[in-house]
Amino acid sequence: MEMNIALLRGDGIGPEIVDSAVEVLKKIGEKYNHTFNFTPYLIGGSAIDACGEPLPKETVDGCLASDSVLLGAVGGPKWDNLPGDKRPEKALLGIRAAMELYTNLRPARLYPALAEDCPLRPDIAANGFDLLIVRELTGGIYFGDRGYRQGKYGEEAYDTECYSRVEIERIARAAFEAAMKRNKNVISIDKANVLETSRLWRKTVHEIAEEYPEVKCTDMLVDNAAMQLVKNPSQFDVVVTSNMFGDILSDEASQITGSIGMLASASLGNTTRGLYEPIHGSAPDIAGQNKANPIATILSAAMMLRYAFSLEEEALCIEKAVDKVLEDGIRTPDIAHGEGAVGTKEMTAEILKRI
Ligand code: NAD
Repeated sequence: MEMNIALLRGDGIGPEIVDSAVEVLKKIGEKYNHTFNFTPYLIGGSAIDACGEPLPKETVDGCLASDSVLLGAVGGPKWDNLPGDKRPEKALLGIRAAMELYTNLRPARLYPALAEDCPLRPDIAANGFDLLIVRELTGGIYFGDRGYRQGKYGEEAYDTECYSRVEIERIARAAFEAAMKRNKNVISIDKANVLETSRLWRKTVHEIAEEYPEVKCTDMLVDNAAMQLVKNPSQFDVVVTSNMFGDILSDEASQITGSIGMLASASLGNTTRGLYEPIHGSAPDIAGQNKANPIATILSAAMMLRYAFSLEEEALCIEKAVDKVLEDGIRTPDIAHGEGAVGTKEMTAEILKRI
C-alpha cells in the first residue's frame, strides 16, 4: 500500500513528537511493506511567523489532497497576545471545518503499568479501563441559534441545541463501525428524560443499531454517565454522544487515565482521510528539550493506520510496542516517578526496537 500523509508539526513540542511518529510509521512501512510519503505543511504560530496567517491556503489544499493528516500541536506564549482570529489555535477550527470532520474519537485507556498515576481509588483502577468516546463535533448547542433578548427578568442570553436525524445517523454509524473493531458494545449517552433533541437522538441511535445486530446498544443518561466514569469505568467500550456532552465527558475520561502525554485522538468526516493528533497542547514549557512524551502522537499514528487505512494488524503492532515499553519500565519524565526517565528520542528508539 502507498499512502500520502500530510504532516502538520505546529509549534512547541509539535515537531519533536510528530518526528517520533514518522519514525514509527517508517518502521511499520518497512516491516509490512507499505510506502508512506510525508509532506510537511505549516500551521499555527510557525505559519504566522512564516507567512502571517495560522492556516495558509497551501496547508488546507495539501491536507485535502492527502490520504491522511497527522498534527502535532499549535500555540505558545509568543503568539498569545494576537487578536482571537489571528491566533495559532484558530487554525485548528479552520482545518477541522475545511476537512468537514464531524466525528471525534477519543480513546482513554488505563495502562496497568501506569495504574499509580490514576486518580481513582486503587480497587477501581485495578480493573483497568479501555474506552472510546465518539463525540459529535459539528452540531448541537455549540453551533445552534444564539443571542441576547429581553425576557421576564430583563436581559437574557440563550443558546439552542438542535440535531437533525442525518447528523445523529452519521455519528451513530461511526460509533457502531468503531465498536465492530473493538468489543461490540455501544453506550449512547443523552438526556432523554428532559431534552427533545435527546429523544430524537435515542430513537435514531436505536434505528441505526438494527444495522449492527452484533453490537450491544444501551442508553445512559449523561448525569449517570459522569458518575459511572469514576465509579466503574471498565463497563464502557464505545460511548457515543452529542457535542457538548462529549466535550465534557471526554475530558473527564482523559483525566482518569492520569497521563496527558499518552492520549491520542482522531477526527473523521465522510472520507477515510481524517485528522490524527494527540489531545495535549504544544507544551511550550518543555519544547526543544527532548522531554516530551511522544506516545500520544505515536498512538494517533496507530489510529490513522486503523481508521484511515484499515491496517488493523499494523495499528496493533504499534499499540503492543507501547504496552511493552511501559511494562519494561521505560518512562518519559511526565510518567516517571523519581529517577531514570528517558527523553523523547530515547523513548521513540525503545518503541522502534519493539516493533
Ligand atoms: P499543554 O497540554 O500544552 O500542557 C499542559 C501540561 O502538560 C504542561 O505542563 C506540559 O508540559 C504537559 N504536557 C503536555 N503534553 C505533554 C507531553 N506530550 N509530554 C510531557 N508533558 C506534556 O496545555 P497548555 O499548557 O494549557 O497549553 C500550551 C499551548 O498549547 C497553548 O498555546 C494552548 O493554546 C495550546 N494548545 C494546543 C492544542 C492543540 O494544538 N490541539 C490543545 C491544547 C492547547
